[in-house]
Amino acid sequence: MNKADSERMAGILQSMGYTEAEEEIKADLVLYNTCTIRDNAEQKVYSYLGRQAKRKKNNPHLKLIIAGCVAQQEGERLLRRVPEIDLVMGPQHANRLETLLTQVDNGQQVVATEDHQILEDLTTARRDSKICAWVNVIYGCNERCTYCVVPSVRGKEQSRIPESIHSEIEGLASRGYKEITLLGQNIDAYGRDLPGITKEGRRTNTLTDLLHYIHNIKGVERIRFATSHPRYFSSRLIDACAQLEKVCEHFHIPFQSGNNEILKAMGRGYTIEKYKKIIARIRDLIPNASISGDAIVAFPGESEAQFKDTLKIIDELQFDQVNTAAYSPRPNTPASNWPNQLPEEIKVKRLKEINHLVELTARKRNTRYQGLIEEVLVEGINPKDKTQLMGRTRGNRLTFFPRKNLQNGSYNPGELIKVKITEVRPFSLSGITIN
Ligand code: SAH
Ligand code: SF4
Repeated sequence: MNKADSERMAGILQSMGYTEAEEEIKADLVLYNTCTIRDNAEQKVYSYLGRQAKRKKNNPHLKLIIAGCVAQQEGERLLRRVPEIDLVMGPQHANRLETLLTQVDNGQQVVATEDHQILEDLTTARRDSKICAWVNVIYGCNERCTYCVVPSVRGKEQSRIPESIHSEIEGLASRGYKEITLLGQNIDAYGRDLPGITKEGRRTNTLTDLLHYIHNIKGVERIRFATSHPRYFSSRLIDACAQLEKVCEHFHIPFQSGNNEILKAMGRGYTIEKYKKIIARIRDLIPNASISGDAIVAFPGESEAQFKDTLKIIDELQFDQVNTAAYSPRPNTPASNWPNQLPEEIKVKRLKEINHLVELTARKRNTRYQGLIEEVLVEGINPKDKTQLMGRTRGNRLTFFPRKNLQNGSYNPGELIKVKITEVRPFSLSGITIN
């Protein structure tokens, strides 16, 4: 989500005539797009900022901008802490960068953190990839997971209307983009705030409807979406994924914990049994689906046995990948005030243990690809080995393969090719091309 915001802000700067500096320490304008999901992400901001603030003494024209979730969370406090900052802007204001910079040019120190109706961005994002693009479909989050800072920094859910999404994707397709990832913090909530209901009382602006609506856009070969919430993940959505050819067989559905009491304390709104049912239905309809999730260890009050339930679920469901984190208390979240916080040693120990299991499971899961022929979308050269190209399978596995094809030509980014998998590692594959 932050990467997508960064690309949009970079696009705005580009449209204003800014070009990329060789090094951040030489730039005339520095914008940090920040993350506050965990404390270590937040702390990074302060160390970067310190270096830039010093530079301002000799270079008074330097513009220093803090965007994103730390900006939203800290607001004016940031100005008190680092008075050299020119602009503090929350994520809802990303599309207003040009207007806000005009105020800075007029000599103001600006804080833009008030709730804001997110505007359609008419400039073109400066995307890092020419093949794969992120497309926001819903901003914000209305859930209240007790550990999570997102709702307080990204605000209320705001869905973009289907027509805007459709035309953005058409534009991307016409510029050669092949893969689209629809983005939302809780993407299953897409459309809840939009009008549209059938005679039978069913909403017509759901994620499922959106997938059907954008599916036939010419030029787009692959569609992905993230992040799914088990509370709202519907069977209708699974059916659509099975039916719609371009929708890739990869599901990212965070489970957070394998224990029902912890899930309840987290305010997640589902049980682990419900989660297992979702996975079973996916595997029933789409047997080769790859499934990933997120998990938090050492949540306040988590006992050793409750932690073991999380390990058990990873082993039982055989995830392809799990993003793990030790619980980090966040400002203005209920769980951060609870007295039953766990000590650092337990966090470190549990994180190490879960990561070990995740790696073992991923390695085991990846062996199913050995010898298979997979469709890979060529993204570019492997930066670590220039004789190789890299791309992803439909299941989102990073895959490396030789640059040349049999006729001694070279593959181009954006091509869909067939790769026979000859080597599997926990989080990537290698193979030889066969077409
Ligand atoms: N909207 C998504 C994910 C949001 S944040 C969802 O509901 O799943 C991405 C991940 O960061 C979360 O899935 C969670 O595993 C992790 N996370 C969020 N807050 C955290 C905290 N306070 N401590 C540790 N991990 C956290
Ligand atoms: Fe945070 Fe929960 Fe919203 Fe995800 S669903 S962003 S974890 S509050």
